[in-house]
Amino acid sequence: MRICGILNKHTKQKERRNHMRSETQQALHKIRETLTEAARYDHAGSLLTFDMETICPPKAMEEQGDLVSFIENKAFSLRHTPEFEDQVRTLYQNREDLEDTDRILAESLFREMERTKNISPEQALEFSKVYNKAYVDWIQAKNKADFSLYVPSLKAVREADLKKQSLLEHPSPVAYDDLLDVYERGMTSGQLDVIFDACRERLVPLLKRILSSEKKIRTDFTCRRTDEKAQETAARYLLRTMGYDFERGLLTTTEHPFTDTPGRDDVRVTTHYFPENFMSSMYSVIHEGGHALFDQNQPRAHWDHFITGEKTMGQHESVSRFYENRIGRSEAFISLVFPELKKIMPEALGDVSSRELYEAVNQVHPTLIRTEADEFTYTFHIMIRYEIEKMIVGSQAKIEDLPWIWNDKYEEYLGVRPANDREGVLQDVHWTSGFGYFPTYALGNFYNAMYFNQMAKEIDIDAAVEAGRFDLINGWMRDHVFNIADRMAPSEWIRAISGRSLTPDDFLDYLESKYTALYEL
Ligand SMILES: [Zn+2]
Repeated sequence: MRICGILNKHTKQKERRNHMRSETQQALHKIRETLTEAARYDHAGSLLTFDMETICPPKAMEEQGDLVSFIENKAFSLRHTPEFEDQVRTLYQNREDLEDTDRILAESLFREMERTKNISPEQALEFSKVYNKAYVDWIQAKNKADFSLYVPSLKAVREADLKKQSLLEHPSPVAYDDLLDVYERGMTSGQLDVIFDACRERLVPLLKRILSSEKKIRTDFTCRRTDEKAQETAARYLLRTMGYDFERGLLTTTEHPFTDTPGRDDVRVTTHYFPENFMSSMYSVIHEGGHALFDQNQPRAHWDHFITGEKTMGQHESVSRFYENRIGRSEAFISLVFPELKKIMPEALGDVSSRELYEAVNQVHPTLIRTEADEFTYTFHIMIRYEIEKMIVGSQAKIEDLPWIWNDKYEEYLGVRPANDREGVLQDVHWTSGFGYFPTYALGNFYNAMYFNQMAKEIDIDAAVEAGRFDLINGWMRDHVFNIADRMAPSEWIRAISGRSLTPDDFLDYLESKYTALYEL
């Protein structure tokens, strides 16, 4: 009897487990159906948006904008029904029964749901109105170089951030960390403080030495007129050299360069040609080409399991900056591409040597504008923004005081002072949709310096680049960097690649050795 009883109990447990499994499988099946449909709307929406950024006739913009909103709303509604949320809950509760990729999906959907579950549709609409108004006011204030026009809406943005935080189910004790977490999952301001302290300590004295160096870098040719056709030929050549697949993408022009990935076999890159600055398009193409290589080399399984969106901003930026700076600004890369670039752009490079081009693309020149910064001073721009963001979030600075705080920091760190708000505090769009984004730009450099050093243990990187063997570089990146990016938080990801926790040391060592040699210090 007792044995029977035990058997009976086991059978019941087994039945319950089987029932749970089939419930989980059913939820997974339904979720996949919904996500497939939503992904189709997303795909269509992003093609229409791309069309608006490139060839849409001006008078058709409004009509097409409505169409984009309609389609985006379709995708949003599909993912925000009570049934879908129930299915996500079921999947999450039983995530240990799932295979790896499905478990990652369950965790991601649940995380997103928790983040937004106390935000009503009306409240979400309120937030988007605040951000839209901030964007419009920012443009106006920037055009007039008058920060005061932007103050009321920037205060509203800060209020919206506070409101969002009050609606979080489990807010962090450090307010800035909740903002950061949206862009770089798991990163904290405690870690960033240590990292930026190290940057400040090593980069400030090094910049002083660079600026007082006697080394002359030739730059007269960098502003020579180069026609658009030649620049386009160069851009296509650079992308092909890097291993970008033109049969699964395209190159065209937009006001601001970007990469867009509407679908798994459609990764598009844009650039902007400035007739008197061929280097601008050259490096924006290599940067965007880096983003594109990351997306073109996603494992198919990640697409099939809807987890390609798991990468953080810092991870993506680490790859684009790896190609732009670690590869693209290396002497090996310049030696590889110089002969062809000289043929394509003889009026710019006719009397220039490969070494001179290498030195010019690495010239250190403090500027006021982040997007024009060289590789060395870039970190200063991010450090300044991080310090200011922390002051705002910690209520140590008033929004109306930002222009002089900004200008003082630029003078202190880079020795340049904005003449007006347009070239100072108003230059970036990011704050129109909240605070906490900027650090991801610097994190990218710290990550890629760590995996560059790891790659260097297995591959002679300079020799591979100089020989044009991007199959070796990209193959290593695919196996070690790309394939696991969606599968873990950035802190685990960098540890899995390099065997170490995130540190700025590799990046700082690299800057020190490269620029000490270049400036003969
Ligand atoms: Zn980028």
